[in-house]
Amino acid sequence: MPRIQHIGVMELFGSSGVRGIVGASMGPELVVTIAKAAGTVWDADRAVIGRDTRPSGQMLAAAAASGLASVGVDVVDVGVTPTPNVVRLAEAWAIPGLIITASHNPARFNGVKLVGAAGRELSVDALERVEACIDHDTARPADHAAVGQITTRTGVNEAYIAAVRQAVDAEAIAAAELHVVIDPGDGAGSLTTPQLFRSLGCEVTTVNATTDGTFPARPPEPVPQHLTLLQETVRAAGADLGIAHDGDADRAVFVDEAGHPIAGEASLAALAAAELDAGATMVAAIDSSQRLVDVVDEAGARLELTPIGASHLITAIERLQAGGAQIPIAGEGNGGVFFPPYRVVRDGAYTAARFAALLAEASASAVVAPHQGYHTARANITVGDDRERARIQARADRYLRRRGGAITDIDGTRVDLEEGWILVRPSGTEPLVRIVAEAASAATATAYVEETEQAVVP
Ligand code: MG
Repeated sequence: MPRIQHIGVMELFGSSGVRGIVGASMGPELVVTIAKAAGTVWDADRAVIGRDTRPSGQMLAAAAASGLASVGVDVVDVGVTPTPNVVRLAEAWAIPGLIITASHNPARFNGVKLVGAAGRELSVDALERVEACIDHDTARPADHAAVGQITTRTGVNEAYIAAVRQAVDAEAIAAAELHVVIDPGDGAGSLTTPQLFRSLGCEVTTVNATTDGTFPARPPEPVPQHLTLLQETVRAAGADLGIAHDGDADRAVFVDEAGHPIAGEASLAALAAAELDAGATMVAAIDSSQRLVDVVDEAGARLELTPIGASHLITAIERLQAGGAQIPIAGEGNGGVFFPPYRVVRDGAYTAARFAALLAEASASAVVAPHQGYHTARANITVGDDRERARIQARADRYLRRRGGAITDIDGTRVDLEEGWILVRPSGTEPLVRIVAEAASAATATAYVEETEQAVVP
C-alpha cells in the first residue's frame, strides 16, 4: 500500500474525513484503498458516490467506484451534489455512501467522507473499523463474475431541493418575502441552494454560483474575510440576508441586512434558542461559545461538549439518543449545524432555510442581537511535521495550565478565565496548531491569542 505506513486510531480519518493535496498526499491509489476497505466493512451490495466541484473530483470518484466494485459493491454515481444529499440518498436507498470532497479546504485539496447505510456520516467507531481493515489489509477482491457494476444517476439535485423544501416551514419563509443573496463559493451548493430559495418564494441574487471547483472567486472556507463580495452585494441590493456555504455545502453562514457578517456562534445560538426546551440536550464542540452556554441555561436544557469535528458530534448524538436524550439541535460555531429530528447530518441548505424562517418575525440583525457581545480571535501556527506539532501543543498545554483557570482537555487544552477562554488544539486536517480565544471585548480576545502565540512559538 503506497503512502500508508501505519494507520492508528482515527489517524487516517482525522476529525472529518480523509483529506490531502492532490498529486501529493491524495490520489487514486489512496482512494482505491479506502473504498476497498469501506466496501468490505460495510458488507453492502450497493453504495452511492457523490462529489463536490473540484476538478480532481471525477478522477477520485472513478477510483472510489473502482475500489468499491473490486470488492463486489455495485456503485450509483450521482455526480456533483452537496454532501447532505449523498447522506439523504444513503438513507432513502438504505445503502452506504462515499463523498469525494475536501469540504472547506483550498482547491488543491481533495478527500473522502464516508456515510453509513443509516444515512449518517460514520461515527468514530465505524471509521476505526475501516482504518483497521486498511491497517491489516483484510479487503478481499471479488471473483470476476461478482465484481460490482457502476451506473450513473441524474436528477438527484432536483429531488434534494424538493425534499428540503418539504422539510422546512415553506409558508413562513414565503410570507416573509425575503430577498436573499446566496454565495455557494462555486461549490456543490451552486446547483441547489439558489434553486431552493427561489422555490421558497424568495427573491434570489447569486454570487460565486458557478461550478468551477478551482474556486477562482474565493477560497471555499466561508469565513468573513472570504465573503466580502457577499457582504457588498447584500448591502448594494438592499437584501434581507446573505447565505454562504463551504465547498460541499454542509455548512451555512450568514450576513445580516446591513452586510455585516454574523458569527457562526451567534447564528447557532439563535437557532438553538428557537429549538431548545427544558430537559432537551444540546451537543456542541469544545470550542463552544459562552453565548451557547447562556442559551442552553436559559432554556433549562443540558449542554454536552465533545471534541471538535463532525464525527465526534455524531458519535455523541448517537450515544445520547440511545440513552433516551432529546436532541433537537447540535453543532459547531463554523456554520455546521445538526437538526437530528430532521437527519443526523449538517445540511447547509436546510440550515439556511431554518435561519431564514426566523426572519419571518424580525430582521437578521435583530434575530442575532441577543447573542452578540462576545468576540472571538484566532491564530494558526504552521508546523513542519507531527513532532513539531506535538511539541508546540505540549508547550501550549503547560502555558495554559500556568494561567490558572478551569482546564478542559478532551481535545487540545481549553482554559476558562475570568473574562473568557483560550483553546489550543492541533488541526485534524492541516499541518497547523490552532489558537482560539473568546472574550467580552475584542481587545481581550486578541490579547489572549497574542499572549498564547508568543508563549508557544519557538
Ligand atoms: Mg463541508
